[in-house]
Amino acid sequence: MIKKQLFSPGPTPVPERVLLAMAGPMMHHRDPGYEVLFQEVREGLKYVFQTKQEVLVLASSGTGAMEAAVCNTLSRGDEVLVVRGGKFGERWGEICEAYGVNVTPLDVTWGQAVDPGLIKKALDAKPAIKAVLVQASETSTGVMHPIKEIADIVKNRAGTILIVDAISALGVSDLPMDQWGIDVVVSGSQKALMLPPGLAFIALSAKAWGFAEKANLPKFYFNLKEELAVAQKNQSQFTPAISLIVGLREALKMLKEEGLENVFKRHALLARATREAAKALGLELLAPTAPSDALTAIKAPEGVDGKKLKKNFEDQFGLIIAGGQSQLKGKIIRIAHIGYFQSLDIIQAVSTLELVLKGLGYPVKLGAGVKVAEEILSAA
Ligand SMILES: *Cc1c(COP(=O)(O)O)cnc(C)c1O
Repeated sequence: MIKKQLFSPGPTPVPERVLLAMAGPMMHHRDPGYEVLFQEVREGLKYVFQTKQEVLVLASSGTGAMEAAVCNTLSRGDEVLVVRGGKFGERWGEICEAYGVNVTPLDVTWGQAVDPGLIKKALDAKPAIKAVLVQASETSTGVMHPIKEIADIVKNRAGTILIVDAISALGVSDLPMDQWGIDVVVSGSQKALMLPPGLAFIALSAKAWGFAEKANLPKFYFNLKEELAVAQKNQSQFTPAISLIVGLREALKMLKEEGLENVFKRHALLARATREAAKALGLELLAPTAPSDALTAIKAPEGVDGKKLKKNFEDQFGLIIAGGQSQLKGKIIRIAHIGYFQSLDIIQAVSTLELVLKGLGYPVKLGAGVKVAEEILSAA
């Protein structure tokens, strides 16, 4: 028997409470009960985004909200600066190019965080740049970019907005949209929000809504101005993903009950235990200096095939982790601890790492990683 468990950075495990909530009979979205439900969801999302702005809910995967961020704030021929330090940074560039927006890439070595000084330099050199697009947590490399520092640079420039893909950062690490002055925050359902895939979220600052007034890129399904008007009446332009919204209410309740501060602390602790355990096994982290607390990217040791590592996690122990993408294919594994994870899940992942490495002939002292993880988890 193999019990399958998700340790991937999306989709992530869905709590039983959320699954049960979604299993109820289908509701109609023109029913008054739906408006009560959606009102509660809108409040909960503002809490998680740490914003007074409306958080719009779209029926799409996270990339839909990325696309909406671009086509609602920019115009054809606009100049943008895109931080490209991984697969999702590249995606920002691809979306902009698809819409005829001129991309100035700021390439960052995969596994490293962007130097905010380089963003300032690029903006000074090209004052026409209308937006800086970046990931908070770059899921393909396990890096956390310094969003607060970047926001400090962008917020005083009237002609430039900061657009942040927080799909694997929201609900993991502190990212107070209003307080830091982030203009657009994008997220998705299947990461720290502990839901199945299918919902995307986007919030715009007053400055970004000003950009939306002038943006001329084509849009229909993702017209955020129209979505805002109906959202404030607890409705949506098109049929909402009703079951997911029902699940979202439950997931938001769970986050509220735990408290955002504690949610951040839990992720930080699980991430630290994972990183230190990997190091105790003699392994190297891909992002040692600026790690994301959503996942840990670990380099496959010399002579061990990363693809085989990932495969054995799943085939032998049922743990579904992620491998490397593009240039990192076969070179790393990514173990997620984002969303519905607790300390014992980490022990399980670290123990599996030891067993799989041993099976592949890598010299590992069984229990060495588990010991370090337990020490960290028990000290908290
Ligand atoms: C998962 C993820 C996405 C993509 O989301 P989809 O839901 O697959 O469209 C984008 N950016 C980051 C940082 C992610 O982690």
